[in-house]
Amino acid sequence: MTNDPADLTCSDLPAAGGLLTVDLSAIAANWAALRDRLAPRTGCGAVLKADAYGLGADRVAPVLARQGCSDFFVAMPDEGVALRQALSVTAASDIRIFVLSGPVGSLSPFITHGLIPVLNSPQQVADWLAHAADKPYALQVDSGMNRLGLAEAEFAAVADKVSPCLLLSHLACADDPLHPMNTRQRTSFQAVADRLPKTPASLSASSGIFLGPEYHFDLARPGIGLYGGNPLPGQANPMQAVASVALRILQVRRIDTPGVVGYGATHAVTPGARLATVAGGYADGLLRSLGGRGQGRLGGYPVPIVGRVSMDLISFDVSSVPEALAQPGQWISVLGEGLDLDQQAGAAGTISYELLTGLSRRYARRYIPAAHPGAC
Ligand SMILES: *Cc1c(COP(=O)(O)O)cnc(C)c1O
Repeated sequence: MTNDPADLTCSDLPAAGGLLTVDLSAIAANWAALRDRLAPRTGCGAVLKADAYGLGADRVAPVLARQGCSDFFVAMPDEGVALRQALSVTAASDIRIFVLSGPVGSLSPFITHGLIPVLNSPQQVADWLAHAADKPYALQVDSGMNRLGLAEAEFAAVADKVSPCLLLSHLACADDPLHPMNTRQRTSFQAVADRLPKTPASLSASSGIFLGPEYHFDLARPGIGLYGGNPLPGQANPMQAVASVALRILQVRRIDTPGVVGYGATHAVTPGARLATVAGGYADGLLRSLGGRGQGRLGGYPVPIVGRVSMDLISFDVSSVPEALAQPGQWISVLGEGLDLDQQAGAAGTISYELLTGLSRRYARRYIPAAHPGAC
């Protein structure tokens, strides 16, 4: 099976305008590659918050579990409940699901579904110890990011009373290896970890893994690298591409008098130009900021986005593409087919994380399986 929508033969591909292809074998390979970078004592978890960064936690989780991943992280309790359900199809029995935002409201989803809260405040610690002291919990300490977690003094106040199954903290600047925050946060976290020497500790997400073994501790928590985002901005991407997005051409227009394209009449076209209007827009997560800046590919030819991105439509200049290729029903790629996720996100003025998590539910989704290549 190839990634090229033009080669799609799966009979269940609906008559959709946009197609999101997720390569589960690439996710499995990315997880294994990150795991292999870790210090020997370090385990490799996986972050599947926001529906596995928009790509489908119910499809991604079983693949990772079969690879040997047993520690999963989500942001919210509801995501943990859904993930528990998705993982029930696997034989693995030792799976832990951590909820990074901690208890939000009721403790009952944690108890009922065996979710492990990441406790982030003295109040959350007190509540958990009062109502569920015998159930496992993780503790997050803030090591300088000032986002979530117990401050150093708050941790010191409870250190003698707690026995978390995992101690964690999060790096603010791990994607910038020379940033002084990295050493500062590692040192601060090490001091906390030293107070609870028997408790496994976790500091690094995707980029942190590349900072070296002194950042690895006992468990890593990669997210974006699994999904093909570059953990090393500005350097070659060590991860395999995972997501491809292609949009169906609805109409091709040949321009015969000077004119303009799209809302606001922002782009001028001259006679002889050919424009393809495709079925996708900002409602599909193809940000309006891509207007006049983003690029697509049609049969290998680069095709620029011209004019503004509409809610459901985008115009591409296909003047340089042979006419036989630029026809209604053909597909223009906006991710994959050599179009890099980080580059496309950059063209939209954002980052890979936001582009991926913004991809809408409107796409027909196709999963390239990890275990049984050739099946749809
Ligand atoms: C999102 C998140 C991660 C994963 O980060 P990536 O940069 O996507 O690898 C890990 N830990 C915490 C606390 C997070 O919020």
